[in-house]
Amino acid sequence: MITLHRAPWVLPISSPVIADGAVIVDDEHILAVGAYADLRHGAYARIVDHGSRILMPGLVNCHCHLELSAFAGLAQQPVEPGNMPAWIASLLKLRASTGDADIEICEAALAAQYADGVGLLVDIGNAPCPRAGGYGGVDVQYFTELLGLSRQGTDHGLKTLADNDAGHKFTCHAPYSTSSALLQAVKGRARLAGQLYPIHVAESRDEVEFLHTGQGRFRIFLEERGVWDGSFAAPGTGAISYLARLDILDDRTLCVHCVHLDDHEIDLLAQKNARVCLCPGSNRFLGVGQASPAKMLAAGIRPGLGTDSVASNPELSMWREMAILAADHPELDPATILAMATLYGAEALGDKGKGRLEAGSTSRLLGVGFEGQEPLEFLVRDHDAKDVIWL
Ligand SMILES: [Zn+2]
Repeated sequence: MITLHRAPWVLPISSPVIADGAVIVDDEHILAVGAYADLRHGAYARIVDHGSRILMPGLVNCHCHLELSAFAGLAQQPVEPGNMPAWIASLLKLRASTGDADIEICEAALAAQYADGVGLLVDIGNAPCPRAGGYGGVDVQYFTELLGLSRQGTDHGLKTLADNDAGHKFTCHAPYSTSSALLQAVKGRARLAGQLYPIHVAESRDEVEFLHTGQGRFRIFLEERGVWDGSFAAPGTGAISYLARLDILDDRTLCVHCVHLDDHEIDLLAQKNARVCLCPGSNRFLGVGQASPAKMLAAGIRPGLGTDSVASNPELSMWREMAILAADHPELDPATILAMATLYGAEALGDKGKGRLEAGSTSRLLGVGFEGQEPLEFLVRDHDAKDVIWL
């Protein structure tokens, strides 16, 4: 059934805002986007006028750990700013005592994401997800995360890879928690299968120190956990330089966080066409610092955004991520911030049918209640929950 949706504001994202716009859809795809005056004369089965709504694509959450949804309490307590090892230790202690969220809690978290306007999400977990592939209305890209810096940890990770067929998607936690052999084995497998490879990168100063020197709070943390066997040789560089040296950066590698990069590493990311996901809410909560989106954009990188989990973020809201980014980086224009939460995220995940309103993209549109004259400012700077419907 061909439907014309009319609204006072249509935000295609990949092209400028249209006042009094229209989106024509069939049951699966967008057929046309433009001014209502240009599209109104056609044979439509249905014309729907969305009086006071913005029409836009669904949001794309590029980084989340739904299995940590039971640990919301962690992000409700103060942390020592910037002390990642201490936060990880508290998380591991909680996980050991209570276990991860069961499937009902994960599904509730996902349903909340959908109700908030998220249509595509990357979920990373340590246990295989029983509902991988899409549930609760959101398209989910699920990855099982491997890590292991010691010889024993590496062998365990390699065995897990060998025990699973190529359709099972794996990724690695981070360069400071995963040996070079395991980082390369998982990337090699993902590359062969054409799969995305999300990885936490350059999140904290502790990580930078550990990769440069093999010392610092992460070294102490690993020793205290009994997983330091001396086999890890610090590369003596930052995380991105290290991943480049291991031939891990390409257009299917999604570098998550990217807070502590020097200019050379930003250039390296751009040269390799590697993808980036920023998590401003989690970074703010943990006090690890702020990424440099303006420099990345100037280098030609188009970062997506992610909420990370409730263990490091008091609220899982992509609207709030945009508002934090806008507050932290007043130099960014609202259209770019909205593109990061939609189009750039979908590009980073390799999904060409989402994140934009164009002929051929998904007919599942978002309608956001709004009465005013500055829709971009409203969407990007307003922290409050939105009146969101899916069309
Ligand atoms: Zn994460």
